[in-house]
Amino acid sequence: MSENKIPYKIYLEENEIPKAWYNMRADMKNKPAPLLNPGTLEPMKAEELSGVFCEELVAQELDNDTAFFEIPEEIREFYKMYRPSPLMRAYRLEEKLGTPAKIYYKFEGNNTSGSHKLNSAIAQAYYAKKQGLKGVTTETGAGQWGTALSMACSYFDLDCKVFMVKVSYEQKPFRREVMRTYGASVTPSPSTETNVGRKILEKHPGTTGSLGCAISEAVEVAVSSEGYRYVLGSVLNQVLLHQSVIGLETKAALDKYGINADIIIGCAGGGSNLGGLIAPFMGEKLRGEKDYRIIAVEPASCPSFTRGTFAYDFCDTGMVCPLAKMYTLGSDFIPAPNHAGGLRYHGMSSTLSQLYADGYMEAVSVKQTDVFEAAEKFARTEGILPAPESSHAIKAAIDEALKCKETGEEKTIVFGLTGTGYFDMVAYEKFHDAKMSDYIPTDEDIAKTIAKLPKVE
Ligand SMILES: *Cc1c(COP(=O)(O)O)cnc(C)c1O
Repeated sequence: MSENKIPYKIYLEENEIPKAWYNMRADMKNKPAPLLNPGTLEPMKAEELSGVFCEELVAQELDNDTAFFEIPEEIREFYKMYRPSPLMRAYRLEEKLGTPAKIYYKFEGNNTSGSHKLNSAIAQAYYAKKQGLKGVTTETGAGQWGTALSMACSYFDLDCKVFMVKVSYEQKPFRREVMRTYGASVTPSPSTETNVGRKILEKHPGTTGSLGCAISEAVEVAVSSEGYRYVLGSVLNQVLLHQSVIGLETKAALDKYGINADIIIGCAGGGSNLGGLIAPFMGEKLRGEKDYRIIAVEPASCPSFTRGTFAYDFCDTGMVCPLAKMYTLGSDFIPAPNHAGGLRYHGMSSTLSQLYADGYMEAVSVKQTDVFEAAEKFARTEGILPAPESSHAIKAAIDEALKCKETGEEKTIVFGLTGTGYFDMVAYEKFHDAKMSDYIPTDEDIAKTIAKLPKVE
């Protein structure tokens, strides 16, 4: 097919929504390290995890061997409301850059929650319902995950309790109201509803909260309430598994037009959208069938891959969750105020961490003002107003396209556009008013929190 026949939007048919999720771990020679019990330092057993998480999700979490998990019909029915998502050819951006590179992006922002997080939220809500639970608890920082989970829970008529980091609760009232529209209860964290919340408030009156604290509150409520479990929107293996729907659709759309990707790029917070986007491509790479350059993009203010340490660490600040082996900046690491709320986690998916350690992928970090400059260029050429998180991938894609301009190479670049930025206009405002700063932690800052890593081995 000739080049100019490739449409702006490549759509798949409804019946081309994947019927199974793909589990990259099945093709990894070096499996990701197991979660450890923080008390005994022994690998977490299914029985231990099932007090906190839904049973089928625990099974998915621990399964390093099954390559494909069938997507239940009920979940596929929900996916049909907003999937398949389009794979877009960025013709206008290419022209603006004057690059011979071909740029494609998979757009996951076309649903009310505005991001890819709904792909896993609906799966997690489904398994909770199937287990006969009353409801689920979770934390949310910037609010995207809480919003996605509220939508998913209302679909299956489950109760949804969200602990929202207090500063976001106050600064992002509109996200909060979207969650309440879908029937979720939203509590600013730290709260007086939990022991851990009361303790933190006593120690730090007036604190505006943190993600780590909100996790501890949500876990406490889940384990102490009959018929409730805790759910998490990123980092975990099960979340990467559900997000593989992004990559499987991307690959199907590329294959439909005989397009060969050279470089695949995604932003990395906890690693779920990136892990999902790259899944089938990484599978080919792991099996030695094909090669791709795969690039993780993180903020320079929270550089887990590029400046972190590959070691066991706590997943939360309260140190109640299992230990995970990952690239981490230390669970005490508090990134400087940074508008990419969804990329502020101190650690990284253990699956992606292992792949990075084994040389299967690269990572770059980018500065916030450069990210917003890229976001604006993208909005003005492609029309979509991107989320700040997604704009990290845009920035790296533009950089790669400009390298092609220098060398004259016609590479094909595919990146993940994870969401829209309508709730992030305060950040855009700061950028426009030149009030945005580029804080980058010093080596000493990072060494301080790395020194507190738990001693394992
Ligand atoms: C949460 C979020 C991310 C980062 O999370 P990952 O688990 O790393 O994918 C990226 N983009 C958007 C729009 C998000 O909401």
